[in-house]
Amino acid sequence: MNWKWIIFHLKLCLLFGGLSIHVNAQQRCISNEMMEKSLNKNPSLKAQRHIWVQQLAEGSEHSFHERANIIIPVVVHVVFFNEEQNISDEQIQSQIDRLNQDFSASNADLENVPNLFKPLIANTGIQFCLANRDPNGNPASGIVRTPTSLDRIGTRSGSGGRRNVFYEDLEGSEIWDSEKYLNIYVCDLGDIGGYASAPFTAIPQEDAVVINFKYFGINNHPQFGLGRVCTHEVGHFFDLNHIWGSKTDCGDDDEIVDTPRQMGPYFGCPGHPQSSCGSEDLFMNYMDYVDDSCMMMFTGGQKLRMLSALSSPRYMLLNATICNNPDTAMLESGVTIFPNPVNNGPLIVQSNDRNNLIQSWELYAVNGKLISSSSSKDTFIAAIEIAHLPSSFYILHIKTIQSSSVHKILKSN
Ligand SMILES: [Zn+2]
Repeated sequence: MNWKWIIFHLKLCLLFGGLSIHVNAQQRCISNEMMEKSLNKNPSLKAQRHIWVQQLAEGSEHSFHERANIIIPVVVHVVFFNEEQNISDEQIQSQIDRLNQDFSASNADLENVPNLFKPLIANTGIQFCLANRDPNGNPASGIVRTPTSLDRIGTRSGSGGRRNVFYEDLEGSEIWDSEKYLNIYVCDLGDIGGYASAPFTAIPQEDAVVINFKYFGINNHPQFGLGRVCTHEVGHFFDLNHIWGSKTDCGDDDEIVDTPRQMGPYFGCPGHPQSSCGSEDLFMNYMDYVDDSCMMMFTGGQKLRMLSALSSPRYMLLNATICNNPDTAMLESGVTIFPNPVNNGPLIVQSNDRNNLIQSWELYAVNGKLISSSSSKDTFIAAIEIAHLPSSFYILHIKTIQSSSVHKILKSN
């Protein structure tokens, strides 16, 4: 056995083998590797992802929908090998609180952002809650606890590359409808911090965020004790790239206009300023690799990218009535939409209740671009012209006096 053979074998292991077995050093995030694996295994996903990225490039950022209150229903799956991994409800709630602070720019350490970058700080308008309804509509805590006899279950794959943690028959926990819930898995990932799937990079059964139990919520880890491994991974889930892009050179970036080009990741807690690619680096961004205490902001450009993911591929998450208390959770959208699929239209939206009038509607293309919106308020019935539009899926947002809802419309010729 010579060195060349060993290196070749090691590369093969990294390409085709288990996730972490051959990687000893601590890795903050393996999202890119996991997404690439998944896309290579699923050509149809790869095609969808390609179309989405193209549409995103063609769409105008300014047309992306901004809403005051986006509340994402979360289910936390704790898959535990021992009691240490079976983290408490309080620990889980501390992570939800952390997400809510970080995504609304209400985190106390925001003052540490250098003056140069303060104008870039964004409140994304995205908030999170533990879902109080399960997929069958039954009351739930939003926390699912599953014991497993497999150590490091988060690093294991079964036959066909199915990742154990997502499947009951592989001693994991079945995902809740990933179009309607943000599924966060907490389990033993060995030395890996976590990973997540961006839109169209994982099959629905595995479309989730996975976090090492050691770093979830407020904990006593010296580097990753503030719950920001999860903030970072949820950023990936809403289509954010690492701040330096996917390659460590200046030719590649994160496709976000307001983040400076950066050579590669920063680690630990560097002092400002640090420069690469001809400008000062935004290493205190959640999408870098610095310690939890040294990352503290998203930018306006990142916010738009996340909202575009929420306007289109992840639009079902906007129907977040399962976040509210059970009474309001039972509220229907309050409208009837017909016909759907629709040919040349118009598409009709009708209120189900004369006391719950339609206040506004907005029709979006799947790339998040606004196509048309209502001009009159408080109507019982609205007709939306769609004859001029090409055959495709569209996303319709409707606001009535009592509720808001999001609907997928199919235009077919
Ligand atoms: Zn990452």
